[in-house]
Amino acid sequence: MEPAFFGHEFSGKVVSVGKGVEDFKIGDRIAAGLAHACGHCEPCQRGFPNYCLVSANQYNPGGFAQYSLANCAQGFRPIIKIPDAIDDVRATLFEPLSCAMRIATRVAVARGSRVLVLGLGMMGMLAALLLKKSTPDVCIIGADTSADRIAQGRDLGLDECVQLEPGKLPATPIMAPSFDLVIDATGIAAVFRLAVDLAGLGGTVILGGVPAGVVDFAPLPIFRKELTVVGAKGPFPYLAADGGSQALDLLLSAEIPWEKLVTVFPFRLAAEAFQGAARSGPLKSVLVR
Ligand SMILES: [Zn+2]
Repeated sequence: MEPAFFGHEFSGKVVSVGKGVEDFKIGDRIAAGLAHACGHCEPCQRGFPNYCLVSANQYNPGGFAQYSLANCAQGFRPIIKIPDAIDDVRATLFEPLSCAMRIATRVAVARGSRVLVLGLGMMGMLAALLLKKSTPDVCIIGADTSADRIAQGRDLGLDECVQLEPGKLPATPIMAPSFDLVIDATGIAAVFRLAVDLAGLGGTVILGGVPAGVVDFAPLPIFRKELTVVGAKGPFPYLAADGGSQALDLLLSAEIPWEKLVTVFPFRLAAEAFQGAARSGPLKSVLVR
């Protein structure tokens, strides 16, 4: 396994550009994405860099260092110039927002749907807020084991938030197995079973986290309820064909209370930021040099 370097979803200033780079110049403020893509393989050429055959699942963090390398490939640039209207902190949301947009647009959600979001970390919370914005009369229930995340979900306007005990489902009618859509944004493989159980007849389950681990699982409910199971492997789209970015357009808008999603720490308090992340406290901790 390659060593990992801390610090992804970062923003900064260009101090040097490589050969052939024309779109960026020294002094530009940029936000860098996380995933690599080669830009040349068949999926990349078709416009699906998230399926890249060459560098899929390779990542490019290192944002905590004073200097970091952000790779560009022809046909795929995981970097954006930050518009003046966006500060460096909000710009760090560009990459997670791109992932959450993938989750929220992976299936058509009908007006008035009941949606359950399992896991109110940044992915789950952003996907919930995006669906709230895009789907009239949608009812979104958020569930998490963290009391902080439940409070944040309520503050951000989810219709209901339910605190779960690990491995235990509360006996509340809200959690009846009747959801049109269940989004598993936990990244815990065992939660997939819960997502399948709570989906209603003809419902959909989206796997939006990176599911770590193995789950002992009986697929019968998928057959009986005729469920649709969908993966959402962001981040895509980073950039539209015209060079614009839907995620960036959204970041420029005031439709989502961006300032409530991030907690800023000076670099000297990095340990405190890590402790907060470890106990699922702040949704996203941003270290500022
Ligand atoms: Zn590729």
